[in-house]
Amino acid sequence: MERWIDETLYPSWRQRLRVDRVLFEDRTDHQHLVIFENETLGRVMTLDGVVQVTLADEFIYHEMMTHVPLVALGEARRVLVIGGGDGGILREVLKHGSIERATLCEIDRTVVDMALRHFPEVSAGAFEDRRTEVVIADGLKFVAETSERFDAIIVDSTDPIGPGAVLFTKGFYADCHRALRPGGVLVTQNGVPFMQGAELTQSVTYFREIFADGSAYLATIPTYVGGPMAMGFASDDTGLRKLDVATLSARFSGTGIGTRYYSPEVHAAAFALPGYVQKLIA
Ligand code: SAM
Repeated sequence: MERWIDETLYPSWRQRLRVDRVLFEDRTDHQHLVIFENETLGRVMTLDGVVQVTLADEFIYHEMMTHVPLVALGEARRVLVIGGGDGGILREVLKHGSIERATLCEIDRTVVDMALRHFPEVSAGAFEDRRTEVVIADGLKFVAETSERFDAIIVDSTDPIGPGAVLFTKGFYADCHRALRPGGVLVTQNGVPFMQGAELTQSVTYFREIFADGSAYLATIPTYVGGPMAMGFASDDTGLRKLDVATLSARFSGTGIGTRYYSPEVHAAAFALPGYVQKLIA
């Protein structure tokens, strides 16, 4: 008999994915983790019934979460990734030749271990890179305690349910601000505004109470259903999200990085928000 997994993120709207073969399923110390094959999406990872990563469309999310902040900064040397246990953000971060150290703070060791086993192409060697440091801890605690200063913090979290909820609080964003060097940037996974508008409103409100500038940009990731996804963007450098295509192109072409979704044109356009999203963060 066919098995289907219902994504249970929203109370009255579900997407269903056919499970062609289960590769791993267990309740870890933190969440319910399932890794399975699906004919359309390749391999899929869900946590607590919510799609985290699929082989088919992970490039969109990982490229946009990473290259937007790093190309905007130009020469980022130290980057902190919170969550992101599949290693996809780490992979994209390490493509930037300026990176001296990339720290990944993931709460769930099983996610890292199982992603390495079942999604080796997502991290693509990033966990073995000499610039990589992996910390298994709660990101909330890590940023509160670290004495390091990062050029960029990328929050690749689950949704604000379960262990990811603390990564959407004002206290966490304030600690991120403290852990950034002056003019550094915070980027956050901020859900699909059409479905999770209140989450975006709240995060951007907090950003503006803490940083000189707070906003969001968009990317369309097919398995995050309901329209484009928002990525939160906060910095004390108010010009960082307003760079023009010529400036971004000059920086990006110098990196030699190949991408399938990100381009300097897409980067600049991603900050153009449709009316309903502007209203959420007005
Ligand atoms: N791209 C995904 C999405 O938006 O659906 C996120 C994928 S990534 C695998 C999310 C990771 O955040 C998970 O591995 C989860 O264990 C981790 N995480 C959740 N809460 C965390 C916390 N408080 N500290 C550090 N990592 C956390």
